[in-house]
Amino acid sequence: MAYSSFRRDYLTKPIFRLALHALPRLSATEREAIEAGDVWWDADLFTGNPDWTKLLAFAPAKLSEEERQFLAGPVEELCRMVDDWKVNWRWHDLPPEVWAFLKSRKFFAMIIPKQYGGLGFSHYAHSEVIRKLSTCSICASVTAMVPNSLGPGELLLQFGTKEQQDYWLPRLARGEEIPCFGLTSPEAGSDAASMVDTGVVCRGTFEGHDCVGIGLNWHKRYITLGPIATVLGLAFKLRDPEHLIGDRDDIGITLALVPTHLPGVSIGRRHLPAMLVFQNGPNWGRDVFIPIDYIIGGVGQAGKGWKMLMSALAAGRGISLPSLSAAGAAFCAHVTGAYARIREQFHVSISKFEAIEERLGRIAATAYLLDAARRMTCAALDDCRHPAVVTAIMKGQATERMRVAVADAMDVHGGKAIMEGPLNYLGSLYRGVPIAITVEGANIVTRALIQFGQGAIRCHPYLLKEIQALEDADRAGGLDAFDKAFWAHVGHSFVTAMRAWGRAWSGGLFAPAPAAGPTTKYYRQLSRHAAAFALAVDLSLLTLGGALKRKEMISARFGDILSELYLSCAALKRWNDEGRQCDDLPLVQYCLEASLATIEVRFDEVIANFPVRPVAWLLRLLIQPFGPRRRGPSDRIVERCAALIVSPSAARDRLTVDLYHPAATETEHGVALLERAFALTAAAEQIRERMHAARVRDIDQAVQQRTITTDEAVQLKSAAEAVAAAVAVNDFAPEELAARGAGAGNKGEPSSPAISSTLLPTSDLPPQTQAAE
Ligand SMILES: Cc1cc2nc3c(=O)[nH]c(=O)nc-3n(C[C@H](O)[C@H](O)[C@H](O)COP(=O)(O)OP(=O)(O)OC[C@H]3O[C@@H](n4cnc5c(N)ncnc54)[C@H](O)[C@@H]3O)c2cc1C
Repeated sequence: MAYSSFRRDYLTKPIFRLALHALPRLSATEREAIEAGDVWWDADLFTGNPDWTKLLAFAPAKLSEEERQFLAGPVEELCRMVDDWKVNWRWHDLPPEVWAFLKSRKFFAMIIPKQYGGLGFSHYAHSEVIRKLSTCSICASVTAMVPNSLGPGELLLQFGTKEQQDYWLPRLARGEEIPCFGLTSPEAGSDAASMVDTGVVCRGTFEGHDCVGIGLNWHKRYITLGPIATVLGLAFKLRDPEHLIGDRDDIGITLALVPTHLPGVSIGRRHLPAMLVFQNGPNWGRDVFIPIDYIIGGVGQAGKGWKMLMSALAAGRGISLPSLSAAGAAFCAHVTGAYARIREQFHVSISKFEAIEERLGRIAATAYLLDAARRMTCAALDDCRHPAVVTAIMKGQATERMRVAVADAMDVHGGKAIMEGPLNYLGSLYRGVPIAITVEGANIVTRALIQFGQGAIRCHPYLLKEIQALEDADRAGGLDAFDKAFWAHVGHSFVTAMRAWGRAWSGGLFAPAPAAGPTTKYYRQLSRHAAAFALAVDLSLLTLGGALKRKEMISARFGDILSELYLSCAALKRWNDEGRQCDDLPLVQYCLEASLATIEVRFDEVIANFPVRPVAWLLRLLIQPFGPRRRGPSDRIVERCAALIVSPSAARDRLTVDLYHPAATETEHGVALLERAFALTAAAEQIRERMHAARVRDIDQAVQQRTITTDEAVQLKSAAEAVAAAVAVNDFAPEELAARGAGAGNKGEPSSPAISSTLLPTSDLPPQTQAAE
């Protein structure tokens, strides 16, 4: 008997039987989520031995000349048109001219190819547009984001029939149609696949013709652009009780395009998401009839809706919210560095206080890291990869880190950031954070189930093959496939264990790394931890199997480790791609020191809480014999990062590149006032130092003592005036606020009618349901 048959029949077969019970079984929706998209650098990390040459050789994302011009032209113009304060607090909508501009300049058609009249932009260009808009108005940015993200446009491009593409895409590109997508409903949020919205295949009359179609009943809520949409991409569960399109009763989740003018469709009511007034609301349909060919992709795609959605999400999730978050962090670095520099307390710029530096350093490093990861992920998407795990990591991590950066920025600004009014440039971002955390997969569930849970199966070199072999209806074929995958897995695990052990006990000293100057040591540490991660994952899957899915705290910690590895790689790559700028080194050091400390703490937590104790002891011995030892960035690194954003410099410009800068003449724009004060304060620094050395505080006295010249006194006074204007906040007369909108602040403009008089609050249940209650 050949060795291979002996191995299969006498060794693999019993393991095959055991594994049938031990390995995670996939639900239909999980399988579809896992099969959607593909893998990229995440898979390299899972091997435990990432190939650094491959990472560094991967071409960075670039803009074409046309994309560059769009950013400098229409995007800049749009930013100038939007007055975020009035939009949110007075008009509760973008003004008509902004809507018209968004449509005519094809902001809703960035992903639609030119052949259909769209802009045909790269993912990176799309991301850059969202990034810039986000630093001007979250409302404008979300409005532009949605049609280019998970919605009819993307779904039609990926799955639409030729007729659907030829009809809908040019209309969407011209802005004649406003799309939205309805997936979640009151009962089904994170567990969207449990939706109760239904479609029943039946005969009916559509525009005077008898045809086979679908009778729809649904109730969706929180749908962005929903209140004004002309076409609704709808997810529902399709049934075919009369077997008009096949032989199955329950066909499953299906996606269709529903024109919102059809009888039975109700749209128009609005939610007010954290008072960021982008169009968002509930919608519902009662006995709405659509022809069967309104299914996206035609009748052949009936029942494949979940897979289509996951596939569209695999790309979209890596762009919209990561771009907004990277913008948020860069904006925080820009304004908080400037504000800390100009704001004085105890006769000292607050930027000089160590406790403020601690926050400034973290903001600066977060801005560096998020933009690094955004660029690297966009480069992968532009290289036609759809790495679903990477984009889930980006969504979860970018929004969480933006949350910390925004909170730090708020704290450093104190009352200045709390008082609402046209002069407040942080309030909208602060209110927007929970939205970013919640949409496109709420972060808690993303961290617990998606980043690692799906990642482990999707990216592991052998696991998916093993699961597929176990689920193969042809048992003999399954056993053969399992035999191959399993023994390759055993070999891989043995090598990984040796690697992890060697690298842990030597402190990563000899782990592989490219020659990357002062960052080489960080590559070594990442090589070390990637091996430890691969081994820990293998042992966890082996001993916990399907139960790992329910051990969300363990899974989430593995998700954190994987995320830290990915983001650290992005920071190192950015530094390399940008020509290894010496001034930026503290930022890279901060990112890596913080990441490595988190990784070590998470490993420690996994080991301390791992339910199978002998495995925990083995892991301790093999991957973390001396416990967590890193403490995060040193105070020196933190100070150097903080210093980068409190003075004008090329490094500061690199960090805050391509944000929207309002014109200096915009005297009511908080950022314009801040930028002016910052520039004047920095320019007057030497004069102030001279006064300080002479121990004189009063400008006129300093002139009399000839410590400074009269010209310098003028310069100092205009800097002081600019600072006073920049730290000012709005106040309102009581009559401006009483029973009316918050008005236009202290500039005395008339107020609009109050929200309460225009949008009477009711439950978001459809009228029929309310009546029934
Ligand atoms: C401003 C805004 C715009 C939106 N736009 C759209 C849109 O255009 N189209 C659309 O279809 N939907 C949209 N949504 C809906 C959004 O996708 C859902 O809000 C989101 O999926 C979360 O659902 P939920 O709010 O019902 O929270 P729930 O699902 O009730 O979740 C509550 C909490 O439980 C956590 N949780 C749930 N399950 C688990 C688990 N297994 N393990 C651990 N934690 C878990 C979640 O992470 C969350 O923290 C929008 C929502 C908002 C707020």
